Amino acid sequence: SRRSSSSVPTSPSPGRQVAAGSGSRRYTSTFGPYLLQRTLGEGEFGKVKLAIHLDTGKSFAIKLMKKDSLDQQTTKRAKVMREISIFQTVSHPYIVAVEEVVETREYIGMVMEYASGGEMFEYVLTRRQLKEPEACKFMCQLLSGVAYLHNRKIVHRDLKLENLLLDGNRNVLITDFGFANRMQAEKPDESKLLLTSCGSPCYAAPELVLGHGYMGEAADIWSCGVILHAMLCGFLPYDDDPTNPDGNDINLLYTYITGTKLKFPDHLSFEAADLMSKMIVIDPSRRARMPEIMDHPFLEPY
Ligand code: ADP
Repeated sequence: SRRSSSSVPTSPSPGRQVAAGSGSRRYTSTFGPYLLQRTLGEGEFGKVKLAIHLDTGKSFAIKLMKKDSLDQQTTKRAKVMREISIFQTVSHPYIVAVEEVVETREYIGMVMEYASGGEMFEYVLTRRQLKEPEACKFMCQLLSGVAYLHNRKIVHRDLKLENLLLDGNRNVLITDFGFANRMQAEKPDESKLLLTSCGSPCYAAPELVLGHGYMGEAADIWSCGVILHAMLCGFLPYDDDPTNPDGNDINLLYTYITGTKLKFPDHLSFEAADLMSKMIVIDPSRRARMPEIMDHPFLEPY
């Protein structure tokens, strides 16, 4: 009969019921005391998500790293742990603040200050190049953060446009301490020399390539000079050598850097060109140091 045919069980299998009942199609998810929102970006270790603190309503950026992938790769894990430990010891208006580190069964989440102004790289790219007063402001903020690190015997070692973010008031926020290191102060001469070459080739000081050891501070100064160049000119001083068939060959890039004289576009002021030509100096012992840079006329307006 009709009745009996309609009484044939139609309920879903227990597996599907369980899946539906456990909220597998939820549209919101939480991480510790945070409500996760959109993805802000993707990095080497995983996604960075915008998150709202459930009690305070304050926005943060959480870098979510899967524990099992970190466990499988010990070098990655060491990099993350070093980044977290250095981040937690610094506190400066132009360095991204780390609020806390939240650990769940699957993830480690680094809860950071939310840089609502986005990436400096994008900011420069959409304007092609920056006007000198604005570059002066960004440079002063960057140098202020870098000097703070150097005073605490920390070198960043991967300063580049991509590692600068902007807050809601267009102030610089230095981020990414994955390559940062502490300099030992006990043996003032030798131990100040670092041996690991790292960072991005186009922003890396030439002495890093030689592998004889280098002064971390001087290498950061070189990178800051390259950042200023990128801001004011809209391109890097030493991008890929046109004759270098493999852009990743860092030794060829080194040969290119040491054999090529820096040329600045005509629109730059004398002060801007002068500051860059004191920072982007191949011999690290002749490169300007922080006090000289901070006293430079180009930076005076800010
Ligand atoms: P990477 O591994 O490439 O260094 P990250 O994992 O640190 O990158 O970040 C990836 C992206 O997430 C960044 O390029 C940026 O767009 C975004 N992001 C990172 N940190 C923040 C933050 N504190 N506020 C806003 N966006 C961020």
